[in-house]
Order: sequence, then C-alpha cells, then structure tokens
Amino acid sequence: MTLEDAEAFAVANGWPRFRGEQVWRWVHDKGARSFDEMTNLSPRTREELAAKATIGCLTLAEVQVSSDGTRKMRLLTRDGYSIESVLIPVEHKVTQCISSQVGCAVDCQFCATAKLGLKRNLDAGEIVDQVYIGRRVLAEASPDARISNLVYMGMGEPLHNYDNVVRSLRILTNDKGAKLAQRRITVSTSGLVPKLEKLGKETVRPNLAVSLNAPNDAVRDMVMPINRKWNIGKLLAALKAYPLEQRRRITFEYVLLAGVNDSLADAAQVAKLLRGFKCKVNIIPYNPHPEAEYQRPSPAAVEAFQNECKRLGLSTYLRIPRGDDIDAACGQLANRSNGSPVIPLRVRKGPPPPPPVE
Ligand code: SAH
Ligand code: SF4
Repeated sequence: MTLEDAEAFAVANGWPRFRGEQVWRWVHDKGARSFDEMTNLSPRTREELAAKATIGCLTLAEVQVSSDGTRKMRLLTRDGYSIESVLIPVEHKVTQCISSQVGCAVDCQFCATAKLGLKRNLDAGEIVDQVYIGRRVLAEASPDARISNLVYMGMGEPLHNYDNVVRSLRILTNDKGAKLAQRRITVSTSGLVPKLEKLGKETVRPNLAVSLNAPNDAVRDMVMPINRKWNIGKLLAALKAYPLEQRRRITFEYVLLAGVNDSLADAAQVAKLLRGFKCKVNIIPYNPHPEAEYQRPSPAAVEAFQNECKRLGLSTYLRIPRGDDIDAACGQLANRSNGSPVIPLRVRKGPPPPPPVE
C-alpha cells in the first residue's frame, strides 16, 4: 500500500484516517514486521489489523556470498516463485539491485533471465520488500554498512511492469517512510519507448539507465529483439525529449560481446549516436552463463574500446563484474544456486536498521 492506500484502508474499516498513516509509518519508517510491535495502538486495534492485513510478502530462502563480498538473496513469493536481489558493496557503501518481474519477456540474447521467460509481474509490495529484507541481511552481515543506492537492474524489465514499479518508487521515496533519495535510485530499461515518455511525466524522478548494447540497428536487432519494435532512432528521440533533472545524466549500458559489438569502429558509431547527449556510458564486459554462447572480450579489447569512446568524447565507466562466482553479476540472475556457501537463516532481534545514508 502507498501511504494514501493505507489511509483509505483505515477509513474503509471504520478507523480515523490518521490511523492509516500511523500503521504505514510503523512498517515503512520503523521497519515493523508485525502488528504487535505497534505499541501506540491498542491491543484490540492490533488484533483487528492482524485479522485484515499482513506485513511483508517475501520470504528469504537463501543468501549466497561471493568472494568479493557481494551477497545474492533468493526470495520466495507467496505463490512459490523465486526471485533474486543482490547486495553489492562498493567501498563503504552498498548498492542493492532489485528485481521487478519473475523472469522477463524481452528476450535479450545475452541475458540469463530472458531464458526463464516471463512468469509474472511483481507487485509493488514484492518490489519494496526486497529492500527491507536486504537491509536486514546487510545489518546481520555488517552492522555499520548502509544501502546507499538502489538499482532496478535485477530480474525483469521494469517498464513492462510500469504501474507497480512507479508505486514502489513512491513508497520507497516517501519522506514519511523509507526516505530513499530519488537521485540514488536508478531504473534500467531495455528501451520501451511509450513507457519512457510516460515515466518522464511522473512526479517521482529516479535516474534512468538504458541498455543500448549495440552500435547500430543491425546488431541491436540481433541481440535485443525489442529493437525491431523500437529501434535506436526511436529510442534516442524519446530520450532526447526525456526531462532530466539538473546535473543529471542518462546512463547508457553497453554489454561488450566479443566479435559482436566491441570493435573500434563500433565504438566510433556509439560515440556518434550519443553525441550531444547528457550521458555516460557504462561498459559491462559480458558475464558468461550456460544459456548463451557469447564471449567476454579480452581485457586489452575492453580497454581499447573504452579508450576509443573516451577519445571521441564519451564519458565511460568500466563495470567490473561483481559476484560472478555466484551468478550474481549483470545478466546472470536465473535462480541458480551453484553450491557456494549458503547462510543459515536467523531472525534478527532488536531494533530495525537505520535508514540509508542519503
Ligand atoms: N531489464 C532491464 C534491467 C535488468 S538487466 C534492462 O535490460 O535494462 C540489467 C543490465 O544487465 C542490462 O543493461 C543488461 O544489458 C545487462 N546484461 C544482461 N545480460 C548480461 C550479461 N550476460 N552480461 C553482462 N550484462 C548483461
Ligand atoms: Fe530482460 Fe533486461 Fe535481461 Fe533484456 S537484459 S532479457 S530486458 S532482464
């Protein structure tokens, strides 16, 4: 429920409107996991609430820990689906990567999630609960660490699940609740043009990342079939019109596939396409997995590609694979568990972890 939903729920059940906000704050600000913790409500109200509503909707099934400190959580939905969310430590901060769907319908040829197909959308609660469970897992692992950034780059295409994703953004950024800073949240999309136009009109303003992954339509048609519907020209036109906040840039993601899109001529085409954009390019060397036959380019080829982009004026960043030993890196999320250490589950005692550093 958004805050407004909680208030409407209170009224519909014969309580004063403020009760909705009271309960909502317990859940989203104070991290309550049961109505019994809501000490400023009478025992009778708590009982009535417990009969009508539940808090949280995912169960933590497994945490795998990578040798680089990345933690991949496998979470179960009430109807038995597995989804994944990843906690990625970056110096003293942690970025959490969350899923928006069970599987994905977009069918990018290099992505393991694509091979699952789309099972269903996650609802807003299931998206939000990944963050709250992530906080608890992190608090157990390293009590001083905080989740500082949130990226919608896990399983699924966020803009295919537009309404629930926008609701989850509203819930997570509400300053009466979890208080996540909008500028620390990034939504990544394969480029659904009509939904990009819609997102640009929302009051909630996350950062935008777009998976470009190819220097031209011929290659993009091949690796991202969605390009046959919305090609690079249409995508870039929509992005040109996208209203950016001050001092913000669009991030383009570019998965580097050996022999497919990694030549210097490809870099030159990318630089030409993006000339004039307020943007940066994240170069992601392909993360291998059994479902696709692409190869990661050699470190020398990756460096040459990046240097050429830089020489041509593009601001580029190389994404070092994180958590690839536990299939937690970009494009490897497919509900596999490869036998690396599984952490036994424990219930956290004591107060919930504080909100992330903004
Ligand atoms: N569906 C959204 C967000 C999830 S995918 C999107 O496509 O943008 C997150 C990122 O992982 C995308 O940029 C995608 O191109 C990248 N990716 C997918 N498979 C990959 C792989 N095998 N290696 C490296 N990056 C991959
Ligand atoms: Fe879906 Fe993104 Fe994977 Fe493409 S890269 S199949 S859009 S999750």
